[in-house]
Amino acid sequence: MEPFRNEPYSDFSTAAPRDAYLEALDTVTSKLGGHVPVVIDGKPVATDVRITSIDPANPDVVVGTTGSASRAEAQLAIDAAKAAFTDWSRRPAAERADLVHRIGDLIAERKFEMSAWMTLEAGKNWVEAEADVAEAIDFCRYYAHQAVRIAEPVPVVGYPGESNESFLIPIGPGVVIPPWNFPLAILVGMAVAPVAAGNTVVIKPASNTPVLGAHFMDIVAEAGIPDGVINFLPGPGSDVGDFLVDHPDTRFINFTGSKEVGLRIAQRASAVHPGQPWLKRAFMELGGKNALIVDETADLENAADAIVRGAYGYQGQKCSACSRAIAVASIHDELLDLVVARAAALEIGPGAENKSVGPVISAVQHRSILEEISRGRDEANLVLGGEAIDRDGGFYIEPTIFAGVRPEGRLAQHEIFGPVLSFISVPDFEEALSVANGTEYGLTGGLCSSDPERIERAKREFHVGNLYINRKITGALVGVQPFGGFKMSGSNSKAGGQTICGSSPR
Ligand code: NDP
Repeated sequence: MEPFRNEPYSDFSTAAPRDAYLEALDTVTSKLGGHVPVVIDGKPVATDVRITSIDPANPDVVVGTTGSASRAEAQLAIDAAKAAFTDWSRRPAAERADLVHRIGDLIAERKFEMSAWMTLEAGKNWVEAEADVAEAIDFCRYYAHQAVRIAEPVPVVGYPGESNESFLIPIGPGVVIPPWNFPLAILVGMAVAPVAAGNTVVIKPASNTPVLGAHFMDIVAEAGIPDGVINFLPGPGSDVGDFLVDHPDTRFINFTGSKEVGLRIAQRASAVHPGQPWLKRAFMELGGKNALIVDETADLENAADAIVRGAYGYQGQKCSACSRAIAVASIHDELLDLVVARAAALEIGPGAENKSVGPVISAVQHRSILEEISRGRDEANLVLGGEAIDRDGGFYIEPTIFAGVRPEGRLAQHEIFGPVLSFISVPDFEEALSVANGTEYGLTGGLCSSDPERIERAKREFHVGNLYINRKITGALVGVQPFGGFKMSGSNSKAGGQTICGSSPR
């Protein structure tokens, strides 16, 4: 394997990647509307019901349909993963790693085509879609390297007259349940980490974005991953999700999604069902209410850029998104003006046209965000946006800013998961830190400041999994910024870091 390096991003201001992206969009557009099945043990499985995936920029356009599994297919998928475990777990780590690395290489060969599917299925613009695909590639290559590393014995202290060993083992079949907002990166990362380590999985993709998962499965087959090691089971989370989580043969669950569903899974996973010979492990990556603190020593232009990029990249639909700007009072108004000017200038339109702000993912999400904005009007001052935009029936919402937000109010506490930013004014850095820490979440955070002592304090006292200084708080790179939060943001297994989900110390 080549040494790990992050997949580079394209410069879309130059002609070659721009033309390649447009060509990929044409190719994908010509394939819209196809059907992809459930895949169990390497074989397509027909289902009575289908999931229809639509383009959020134009809901009349059907991106594709997938099979929709019932509990019967879920049982078959678990059986397949269990059967495949025996052989796969015994393969040498180097062989598993090569195959997983190959998945990454094949995605890289198809980078723009996969990105174009993402643009049309998830509403991401070119930069956001390519970053998602690049992260998926990185996860494959990074975890391939990690699989080889963790196959080495864990050092133990010597003891006279004895020879002791400690090493990691694969633990069994697991269930992978990703969200729709990183439809490739998170799905791939949560699946290939345990697979590289010798486990087998059933992937239940998010119902808003199942088609991307199906394209990943084509690559899995092409890479030569044996049948049954990765099974693909689109279906309603509320039905097959519970079944997979409860199943006595499920050994671990890799979940990323909302706090509500995550807590439900964590509780159910702690129950022992008849025939279950093990304690299940549940790895949880949940929501965020992330803050960027700006003090009076900060470069305000840079801070405004960081806030706007963090708040409106992919329409604020990132667990790491900047949803609170906490500004020291002496610079609050100036910073607010800079942020409002930048946010107001963002172009709104389809991801396919590479506009800065695209549609939110679904009608349900659109309604929920607008309801939060409506509530917010009673709570704080709406200084920008707040309205839906009607274009081709797409789910657009203007970049929205509330000022005068109370730290304990709903706007500052509840994860909205849309293009909505709350400005909070505080007297000083001390109070800023306290407000920043004053939510149930602890995922990402940032500080814009030129004061070295405050930066050091933030490193110790700003209780988030990923802290960024003088830059945006989104866009963690695999291996560079291992990603995962504290408190209600998750169980703190670091994605793209040196913990492999679903492997067990022994
Ligand atoms: P949801 O929690 O609604 O859904 C996540 C996944 O869980 C989907 O695949 C869903 O399936 C499935 N699901 C739903 N109900 C159940 C159930 N009872 N049992 C098992 N699975 C179930 O989250 P979203 O997809 O809306 O994603 C947004 C959330 O994800 C935000 O809160 C965001 O902060 C968080 N997130 C966290 C990240 C992190 O690293 N901490 C990264 C990215 C997002 P279906 O689609 O069929 O309902």
